[in-house]
Amino acid sequence: VLSAARSYDFFYFVQQWPGSYCDTRRGCCYPTTGKPEANFTIHGLWPNYDNGKYPHDCDSENLYDATKIEDLLPEMQTKWPTLACPSADGNKFWAHEWNKHGTCSESILDQYSYFRAGLDLQNKANILSILEDAGIRPDGALYNTEHITEVIKEVLGVLPSIECNRDESRNPQLFQIYLCVDKLGKDFIDCPFYPKRKCSPEIEFPAF
Ligand code: 5GP
Ligand code: 5GP
Ligand code: 5GP
Repeated sequence: VLSAARSYDFFYFVQQWPGSYCDTRRGCCYPTTGKPEANFTIHGLWPNYDNGKYPHDCDSENLYDATKIEDLLPEMQTKWPTLACPSADGNKFWAHEWNKHGTCSESILDQYSYFRAGLDLQNKANILSILEDAGIRPDGALYNTEHITEVIKEVLGVLPSIECNRDESRNPQLFQIYLCVDKLGKDFIDCPFYPKRKCSPEIEFPAF
């Protein structure tokens, strides 16, 4: 059923640091295709409204179809891997992202274009090299949260939002990076608003 939700206003493009997903009390499982490289990977591309709400699960008649993205598979496996347990090949994660979020932007991006847009955004925002160029490395040291956001803003021109989680010893660490993207899923834009979660001023950047 196609819900009568009004069109969204922008996307959050969310990347995760695998080291921070994996070193939590919950742990992680590498995908069946092998341990991902030590790089930020894609969590999702999420349509959002300017008022802080967001649509989800917009079309139960257009559910995830793996055959539509067969030629994206090698790229999906390296850039959009699943780290949840038990180990899987990614299709369950991609199905979740498309069914919950992607169907809400289907009037603009069909399933293939949606995943293609995520991969292209990842190529445009190489967060790890931006941070490493500024001396911010996944070495388990503490880094200043504001400095991290400033470094990314200097290169990409827009202010990101950082989400933290906690490692096994409950220390706050760099978990996800949120960037806002225009309705077409093409260009980074200044966020109409930022997620409310706040990290500590100093956070760990763990190895993966
Ligand atoms: P969490 O509670 O872990 O922050 O988010 C759980 C899930 O809710 C996310 O994986 C995502 O699907 C959805 N979600 C959380 N915050 C937002 C948001 O600001 N916009 C959208 N579109 N989805 C969100
Ligand atoms: P969202 O937060 O997008 O609604 O939810 C993400 C969903 O995908 C969760 O149900 C989570 O268990 C699953 N998932 C599978 N692999 C991953 C992964 O590598 N990272 C995250 N954040 N969620 C994953
Ligand atoms: P989704 O399970 O809705 O299944 O995930 C809910 C939250 O739990 C997400 O924020 C996701 O990041 C986290 N999560 C789900 N499965 C795993 C897992 O296997 N390992 C870790 N570290 N987190 C997980």
